[in-house]
Amino acid sequence: MEVAFDTIWNDCLDVIKDSVGEENYNTWFKPIKPLRVDGDILTIEVPSQFFYEWLEDNYVPVLKKAVHTVLGPTGRLEYSVIVDSGNSKNPPVTVNYPNGARHQSNNGVSEYSPFTFKALNPQTVNTKLNPNYSFDNFIEGDCNRLARSAGLAVAKKPGITSFNPLMLYGGVGVGKTHLVQAVGNEIRNNMPNKIVLYVDQSDFTNQFLNAVQNNKIQDFQNYYLQVDLLILDDVQFLAGREKTQEMFFHIFNQLHQSGKQIIMTSDCPPRDLKGFQERLLSRFKWGLTADLQEPDFETKLAIIHRKMQADGILIPTEVAEYLAYSVDTNLRDMEGVLNSLIFHATLFKKDIDLDLAKEVLKNIIKEIQSDVSVDFIQKTVSEYFKVDLESIKGKIKKREIVIPRQVAMYFCKRYTQLTLALIGENFGGRDHSTVIHALESVEDMMKTDANFKNSVEELGKKLKLRVN
Ligand code: ADP
Ligand code: MG
Repeated sequence: MEVAFDTIWNDCLDVIKDSVGEENYNTWFKPIKPLRVDGDILTIEVPSQFFYEWLEDNYVPVLKKAVHTVLGPTGRLEYSVIVDSGNSKNPPVTVNYPNGARHQSNNGVSEYSPFTFKALNPQTVNTKLNPNYSFDNFIEGDCNRLARSAGLAVAKKPGITSFNPLMLYGGVGVGKTHLVQAVGNEIRNNMPNKIVLYVDQSDFTNQFLNAVQNNKIQDFQNYYLQVDLLILDDVQFLAGREKTQEMFFHIFNQLHQSGKQIIMTSDCPPRDLKGFQERLLSRFKWGLTADLQEPDFETKLAIIHRKMQADGILIPTEVAEYLAYSVDTNLRDMEGVLNSLIFHATLFKKDIDLDLAKEVLKNIIKEIQSDVSVDFIQKTVSEYFKVDLESIKGKIKKREIVIPRQVAMYFCKRYTQLTLALIGENFGGRDHSTVIHALESVEDMMKTDANFKNSVEELGKKLKLRVN
């Protein structure tokens, strides 16, 4: 059957058009180019990895429906993703993925083929390292200084320093994975004979389960004993998995005894890990434990600039500051926002300005978006702290006024869409740096003063009631 692939794709587009709005259609489907039809498989070219991920996260059912309607129930779709658009000398680089595959890897054990022992060769081993994570692009700040130095020391002399194991801990998105991968990449680049292996806990536990089911426990152990640097990410997920822990205990001991380096990450310090055998926990504390904290404002700013620079995109300081403050969940969300901005800037050839940043933010972070007014915040805060409303808006520098004023600024930042400059305007014409200072003071005080933190949280509840 000879049907031109562009006709097939056009028919698919007709189905898609009916299911998604016009704007989405123009944004996400118009830029797609059909490449070929091979039997039941239609291959389409999408302009970037980000684009591909967006389609997979949002439009798998729509795409499936279209392909099934046009090609029949056995019809399938494949993406050809442009990961590097090339230049006059080099052709573009593309990667192919089947439609709907992106989220299947989290489903559990069944995807793993039976565990088999493989002799590892340092040159060909699949390290599972992402080459984009390096020390070069890991921004140093107070929040991560110790962890970063420890990582560097280990990268220079794996297995030889007393930082063995190196245990890094911290909340979501503070850079644990980035940092341990940077260590892995550094060792791999400088010591090509070392076998480096990065495993996240689900690889480890799933492979282990599989080895148990297939009577391959010894193979499993021998496989891991070959490595010179073992990076185990997110060990907290081994909680309650006794058999897996036991296996890790043996691997750990043997690697450690033979001077091999072990690096682990966890979402809390070893002493707070629940559901772990005591003997394993005591091993975790043998080397160095270092924490990574939420990045401060300056570090966030630097991360934003660094990432945009790497993508060759100019971001005005005003926008970077806005993002550094507004995306206060974690750096992973920040990454999503920045990717989306880059995408808008490159695809639609738009300049990145405050309006675009707000627009993107609104779509990505489903934060408390509200219409609470500055007036309402100022009034609520002044009543709560029993200070005069006019002084909150004024210039008096007495501590009993300054603190409520700073708290009110803090809530304006959280619950309104105003820029820092505009918030300053509403508090006696102060400039944005005063507002930044206020936000920082409130955050600092919340860390050190439990009573103050309670007050802010109580106020937050009052305001939120109004928001929701
Ligand atoms: P974690 O593993 O702690 O949850 P990640 O390492 O996945 O966090 O970091 C989340 C995102 O933030 C990644 O894109 C990472 O590159 C970025 N990131 C975190 N810390 C830094 C840093 N200090 N410098 C540059 N990028 C960072
Ligand atoms: Mg991580």
